[in-house]
Amino acid sequence: MDALRELYQQLIVEHHRHPRNFGKLVPADAEAEGRNPLCGDHLHLYLRWDEQGRIADVRFEGEGCAISVASASLMTEALRGKTKEEFEDLFEKVHAMLTGKAEPDPELGKLVALAGVRAFPVRVKCATLAWHTAKKAVEEGKGIATTE
Ligand code: ZN
Repeated sequence: MDALRELYQQLIVEHHRHPRNFGKLVPADAEAEGRNPLCGDHLHLYLRWDEQGRIADVRFEGEGCAISVASASLMTEALRGKTKEEFEDLFEKVHAMLTGKAEPDPELGKLVALAGVRAFPVRVKCATLAWHTAKKAVEEGKGIATTE
């Protein structure tokens, strides 16, 4: 278990240092902003749909703590190719895991690395920020998501 925890820790550090899909997406079909005033995390999320209604590309930029950046980075990897319904399903599963309402599901793959935040209530908002921001972009096309 400790080896696994170490692996997850490394995954978070690595995604923080080298975030995937980092940068602006122009043009984007949807974009949203996310703010977590408690920690100072701030990100912009850009999203593009393909003709089949699947997420063709998703990128983010911004600044934040290791957890918020790693969560956004891991999320962008997980979202590509997802339909709106698939996104919502994944959102619910990840949200339940991060808030401690559900045990980490191995089906979530690398996203399980984020489950460590459950031991630190303040960190939960850092981890969920990117997801709330993506939900805003997916469902409303634009807007601001805030954790407070
Ligand atoms: Zn944070």
